[in-house]
Amino acid sequence: MPPISQKTPVRFADPIPDAVDVAVIGAGVAGTATAYFLAKRGQRVLLCDKGRVAGEQSSRNWGWIRQQARDMAELPIMIEANRIWRGLAAETGDPDLTFTQGGCLYLATTAKEMARYEEWMADARGYQLDTRLLTRDDIRQMYPDLAGDRYVGGMFTPSDGRGEPFVAIPALARAAQRLGVRVAEDCAVRTLDVVGGRVAGIVTEKGRVACDRVVLAAGAWTTHFAANVGVDIPQLAVRCTVARTETAPKLFAGQPDVPNIRDVGLCVRRRADGGYTIATGTLADHYISPKSFRYFFKFMKALRASWRDTRLHLGAPPGYPGAWGMPTRWGADEVSPFERMRVLNPEPAPSEIRRLEKRLGQRYPALAGTKISEAWAGMIDVTPDVVPTLGEDPVLPGMFICTGLSGHGFGIGPGIGRVMADLVTGRDPGHDLARFRPERFRDGSPIVPGPYL
Ligand SMILES: Cc1cc2nc3c(=O)[nH]c(=O)nc-3n(C[C@H](O)[C@H](O)[C@H](O)COP(=O)(O)OP(=O)(O)OC[C@H]3O[C@@H](n4cnc5c(N)ncnc54)[C@H](O)[C@@H]3O)c2cc1C
Repeated sequence: MPPISQKTPVRFADPIPDAVDVAVIGAGVAGTATAYFLAKRGQRVLLCDKGRVAGEQSSRNWGWIRQQARDMAELPIMIEANRIWRGLAAETGDPDLTFTQGGCLYLATTAKEMARYEEWMADARGYQLDTRLLTRDDIRQMYPDLAGDRYVGGMFTPSDGRGEPFVAIPALARAAQRLGVRVAEDCAVRTLDVVGGRVAGIVTEKGRVACDRVVLAAGAWTTHFAANVGVDIPQLAVRCTVARTETAPKLFAGQPDVPNIRDVGLCVRRRADGGYTIATGTLADHYISPKSFRYFFKFMKALRASWRDTRLHLGAPPGYPGAWGMPTRWGADEVSPFERMRVLNPEPAPSEIRRLEKRLGQRYPALAGTKISEAWAGMIDVTPDVVPTLGEDPVLPGMFICTGLSGHGFGIGPGIGRVMADLVTGRDPGHDLARFRPERFRDGSPIVPGPYL
């Protein structure tokens, strides 16, 4: 069972108002954090989700909050997000938003991998991060629970950390609610009301709501929602499998904490319940859809970096975003694809679970025999350059895009929410957002993928 699914009872059922200042479509980390910061700026906000708050990627992720190995344009926002995470539990009074600063460790088994870390470190030098490179001896001394002598070194950021996604994002939605945000689950936004070429409202399955600004934070559904209102936001989705273990011994007794660890084919995060969230991190299933053909050339460079980890399937299961046969156009009075799939809940890949069971004991003898208690999967939305798409779309004034967090949006989510709230209210977001412009894939700009680390 995944952490949040359609079986999770509805916890947010605020009445739908006739009018708000801003409507936010999608209550993942991106939409929820944006709603939270908009409310702090005095805006009247409605936050709608077709299914459950954090029902999709935002509860299914690994829970890593990392600055390490980020794209350089994301890094300043991520540094801010790290700061926000550190204060969120105190600010909201909710321990579900606890940030645990256990660090983040990338291991290298080859000199080539080490060289890539060194390259990233050189690029990040100006940001005063506490990231440092570790030698083979450092790894042996600091992490004696790691099996064998596989590692030539690593990269470590002590100020990185972790959260518990499936409780943190609903807690942030509760905090937003306390600031006045109306939060509605089981409330799909079918389309926009566009008058005179700009946003005049949203049409939900429960009625129309007037507003002159909308934040589209619909994760893997964004590209389909946008296409229906005539806006092209290139995105594809991949399925990734995750599991959690039963309660297991705490590794690395001599260290202050267990860092999030990325090793080849095994990524591990200590959980608050005493188990580990684990994933191989090396398999992404892509279901070929009409959008795969449409965007093939835009994704060529990203695919070149990740082809070893990508497995193609002929078609998506019915109802998945972009599946063959999914309508591409619908009207405000028609049931939309969003209502037909309340919570996108892909089956985890059995081959991945078998690999995880085997590798855990091999890499960490102290964890040999530890059982997997649960596995799930999530569909990650990815842009052609693997960095987010943020900003007001010039094609449709009033429509702000906040999507394409490309597999690393949980950690940066609060920073993105703060930035979006400032953009939507006409303030200076304080960061250079040129790399994230929605129109960058239409205006002939070169596509430069972020780091694949
Ligand atoms: C397996 C996995 C592991 C990951 N690990 C990490 C990690 O360790 N660290 C990290 O930083 N990131 C990680 N990520 C990425 C991170 O989870 C995502 O980038 C982030 O959660 C995306 O948030 P979002 O709000 O954009 O989208 P989502 O969380 O997908 O939310 C979008 C929401 O929009 C709703 N919606 C869609 N259409 C409509 C509509 N028309 N009307 C109303 N609602 C709608 C959906 O129901 C959904 O709830 C991982 C992701 C996965 C799947």
